[in-house]
Amino acid sequence: MHEIANTPRGRGILACIQCGRCSSSCPVARLVAEHNPRRLMEMVILGSRDEIIHSKLPWFCLSCFTCLDRCPQGGDVAEVMFAIRNLAAKEKNMPDGFAAQAKNLFETGRIATPIESIVRKREEIGLPKEHSTAKEDVQKILKKTGFNKLIASK
Ligand code: SF4
Ligand code: SF4
Repeated sequence: MHEIANTPRGRGILACIQCGRCSSSCPVARLVAEHNPRRLMEMVILGSRDEIIHSKLPWFCLSCFTCLDRCPQGGDVAEVMFAIRNLAAKEKNMPDGFAAQAKNLFETGRIATPIESIVRKREEIGLPKEHSTAKEDVQKILKKTGFNKLIASK
């Protein structure tokens, strides 16, 4: 637990009293049976490090922050998820879909490349084929933070 709690984004874990309001208010938990924020917080508290890092559990969260609004302790579950993901990514446990988005961001300045129908629609209504991106600026930031090495090793 301290490994997560000692990161800037993971401090919320210290506030958790396992009341379960995050799970009952989470929109993702209604649809994805595996996603249970309270259970994930419990696993962190109990120190189930490897089980968490090597699982998909921290990757379902959509960062809507409903759980933060509802948590009686102000425990920021979404931020704890980010802290766990950072740790998992450093240990090369980033799911393929996230790794593909990260690579796309580095190569094009976009997380997702616009699909053909969107490109056509833009042309139909007189918009340029694609928005320009600040690709070089994005690459500069990603290199400075070491993110490019992280995704290259994936
Ligand atoms: S709502 Fe807050 S205190 Fe309750 S289980 Fe979730 S994180 Fe813990
Ligand atoms: S931030 Fe994540 S865990 Fe919290 S309610 Fe939204 S999807 Fe659920």
